[in-house]
Amino acid sequence: MLIGYEETDERRMLRETVRAFAENEIRPQLPQAELEQRFPLPLLKQMGDLGLLGVNGPEAYGGGGLGMVEAVIVTEEIGRISIGFSSGMLVAGYIKPGAIWAVGTDEQKAKYVTPALRGESITAFGASEASAGNDIRGIRTVARDMGDHFVINGHKTFNTMGPVASSEIILAYLERDEEKARPMVFLMVDTDTPGVAIVRVRKHAFKCSDMGEVFLSDVKVPKENLLGDETGAARGELMRIFDGERILVAARSIGLAQAAYELALKQVGVREQFGRPIGEFQGTGFKLAEMLSEIKAARLLTYAAASYYDQQVEHKLDTAAAKLFAIQVAERCASACLQIHGGWGLIEGVNDEVVRNFMDSRVSLVTTGSVEVQKQIICRLLGVM
Ligand SMILES: Cc1cc2nc3c(=O)[nH]c(=O)nc-3n(C[C@H](O)[C@H](O)[C@H](O)COP(=O)(O)OP(=O)(O)OC[C@H]3O[C@@H](n4cnc5c(N)ncnc54)[C@H](O)[C@@H]3O)c2cc1C
Repeated sequence: MLIGYEETDERRMLRETVRAFAENEIRPQLPQAELEQRFPLPLLKQMGDLGLLGVNGPEAYGGGGLGMVEAVIVTEEIGRISIGFSSGMLVAGYIKPGAIWAVGTDEQKAKYVTPALRGESITAFGASEASAGNDIRGIRTVARDMGDHFVINGHKTFNTMGPVASSEIILAYLERDEEKARPMVFLMVDTDTPGVAIVRVRKHAFKCSDMGEVFLSDVKVPKENLLGDETGAARGELMRIFDGERILVAARSIGLAQAAYELALKQVGVREQFGRPIGEFQGTGFKLAEMLSEIKAARLLTYAAASYYDQQVEHKLDTAAAKLFAIQVAERCASACLQIHGGWGLIEGVNDEVVRNFMDSRVSLVTTGSVEVQKQIICRLLGVM
């Protein structure tokens, strides 16, 4: 079993390609994207052309045929430039197509996965609702079985990339007249279907991705739009995809932590107080030592979880531990970086990346299973809760 990961020539080349793309193409477009709170869509197409979307996806549908470790490399490097951009990229090119390539029919894969991995269309994910956050069982969206089609009614919140998506994966309770049981199902909904309305939402973090609320009013979708099945047999495979999402959330957090570390390292060398660089004060210099050590530890945990995922060995505990640690390391590094910048981290137009990292580091603490929920998962796996 591989612990950590092996940096092969291919992986090194992939990292260099992504880093160059992120520095040269993404970074210059961030200020405008953040201002407008719109993901720069042409970059998605460029990433598709370069083969940087779905590197772990099936080659038959335009993926790279590689593994989770390679997906982590891409996500870490993109997260180093902007974790907000990486969230849009993950929705568009990894997690949502990933769910479809895992359990979709051949028709669904051809219709949704292939264009998504070319960067030409986006599938968003509608699970959260006003009353259903971490406890997803609280959703009120319902898909009524009408015999030859479903009719969906509901309201989805926090819909990343929804305003620019051409389709949604909608989580709903399936209802039938004659049955009491209401299984949870995933349904593909094209956003141009009558009855679908998506309203833009502005946010305080992840500003360079789009977000919306989705209103579903008597939305008629054909039976073949069911993703997976209604008996829950596909749920195991989908859970594997969502576990994978947590590894990628850890990866993008390492990217953010690395960016904060690099900014802090630069600042302690150039900022002088009391006649010397502030890095020479132990209270400041030691912060860098802690940041670097924690980033290295988070990276090892995350690449190990990705390796286990690829080898299909049990990795639930490693995934939860990697996510829990990496998102907290990102928060600590972003906070330390802001502290090192003093007041100059808080003035608009001076060190915007410093405060952006600070705000963005908060998001992963509450999404895709919050800090508290990761701790619960670990406690359950340990048998203490
Ligand atoms: C930027 C962003 C993008 C998002 N994108 C999407 C998307 O594309 N699609 C989508 O469906 N959703 C999306 N979400 C929603 C996200 O999944 C939810 O925010 C998340 O599930 C948490 O739900 P909540 O915010 O309602 O918090 P709540 O679940 O209300 O939690 C509030 C607090 O209570 C704590 N808590 C809750 N339950 C427990 C418990 N059992 N034990 C201990 N503590 C607990 C939590 O840890 C948290 O601190 C996004 C959110 C954000 C901020």
